[in-house]
Amino acid sequence: MKEVSRFPAPVGDLGWFNIANNREHRFANPEAIADSYDFVVVGAGFGGVNAASRLAENRPGASIALLDALRVGMGDSGRSAGLMIDVPHVTVGDPKMDLEHHKWRYRLNKIVIDRMRDIKSKNNLQVDWRESGKHLAARESSCLPSLDSLARFLDRMGSSSRMIEKADIPPVLGTDYYIRSLYTPGTILINPAEVVRGLAMSLPQNVQVFEQTPVLQVVEGPVPLVRLTNGKTIKAGKIILTISAFINNFGIKEAGRLYGVNSFGAFTRELTDDELAHFRGIEPWGATAAHPAGTTVRYTASKRIFVRNGFQFSPNQITSPERVHQARGKLRKAFVSRFPKLAHVNFEYVYGGMIPLSFNTQSLFGDVAQNVVAGTVGDGLGITRSSMLGLYLADMVCGIDSEELRYMSKTNTPSWCPPDPFRTLGATVRLAYDEYRAGGEI
Ligand SMILES: Cc1cc2nc3c(=O)[nH]c(=O)nc-3n(C[C@H](O)[C@H](O)[C@H](O)COP(=O)(O)OP(=O)(O)OC[C@H]3O[C@@H](n4cnc5c(N)ncnc54)[C@H](O)[C@@H]3O)c2cc1C
Repeated sequence: MKEVSRFPAPVGDLGWFNIANNREHRFANPEAIADSYDFVVVGAGFGGVNAASRLAENRPGASIALLDALRVGMGDSGRSAGLMIDVPHVTVGDPKMDLEHHKWRYRLNKIVIDRMRDIKSKNNLQVDWRESGKHLAARESSCLPSLDSLARFLDRMGSSSRMIEKADIPPVLGTDYYIRSLYTPGTILINPAEVVRGLAMSLPQNVQVFEQTPVLQVVEGPVPLVRLTNGKTIKAGKIILTISAFINNFGIKEAGRLYGVNSFGAFTRELTDDELAHFRGIEPWGATAAHPAGTTVRYTASKRIFVRNGFQFSPNQITSPERVHQARGKLRKAFVSRFPKLAHVNFEYVYGGMIPLSFNTQSLFGDVAQNVVAGTVGDGLGITRSSMLGLYLADMVCGIDSEELRYMSKTNTPSWCPPDPFRTLGATVRLAYDEYRAGGEI
């Protein structure tokens, strides 16, 4: 595999990380990295922490290192909107994703959510984690049929949901922007940076976590190697790559089927008591948009409004400061149109990140080289999806078979993606068209 030439970097002000109560925690000193481990996991997002936790459970006597180029919680897991989603967003994607597949995904989503909830309880993690459910909220009447069809689909899946009509929305959300919302109860609202750090902090003793430890190269072979940018080389029994779309930089053929799309998030400052009067009696909530290109909104436990929008194709997995700057206008518009009475409230944090996607929404999962496996999400439900990739990659390298692992191996094949320049051109035009069609959903 080739040497990495592009590394992740914080872009903008990472709001979730900045307000995380565990941001000062220090993991192991990178100077103390050993020469060899039984398992090395590269990438400490939700994928990596779940992989490391399952490895430790499967092999309590094994030595395990979890490495990340950034501080844990600064990667895309910690830049997400923090909706840990259990149900399908909308029934789009691979036409082969029928009811049975969605039932499987729902089951797997619940497995990883239950597991993380369990780890949180057993370790008494003090993290922002709310069992609030989520709204799929529509502004445009053209989106109402998709809410209705999703409600019917969820019903057939055996998953509960409730439609909330226009007049009943303001007392729940504190805005009269939306005309209908489909509420589902199983989504968890989290501070994703605080939760992913918390999970990393509660890993068992046989896992060492090293932040700010960029990997330069992975060398496959009977004894695979991890070369670090600081010149050190680690021998491993097996290597798990949970590096999201950055996998494109590692010289893995299958990675060409995945591409990164930039998206952007913004937080207001904390609202004052006067401003909070608009939200009297309203609990923190989260809403995704009824159109896939629309704006995600949260009223957070920290008494801020969070908005996420923008989809821009990201050649070479780069999220540039210029793009974050340009994204402000659209984020601001989404905020002000939903909360005109708060139009004077400034954004304290604005940042950019990357969502890895594949054409058929399937993930990359499994062997990529001798003694090296990898998992990268292929759709927008990245928190639960990356968590399940990590979990079952750990089972795979430990030779632990299950019905779930067999399902994951059988179905996770991202479809072919045209090479550049067609890929960049096609994706850029498609994303721009989707945003145009989304109208007031943005
Ligand atoms: C703005 C935004 C909002 C989103 N909102 C949601 C949401 O609400 N719900 C949801 O489910 N999903 C959401 N997503 C998608 C979700 O965040 C991701 O799909 C998911 O977090 C991916 O997790 P991961 O563990 O696979 O990757 P990451 O969290 O990206 O972890 C990969 C890690 O690998 C590290 N890495 C990369 N290269 C190297 C290297 N060379 N050496 C060492 N380390 C390296 C990175 O630093 C990173 O920490 C959102 C994404 C964005 C950008």
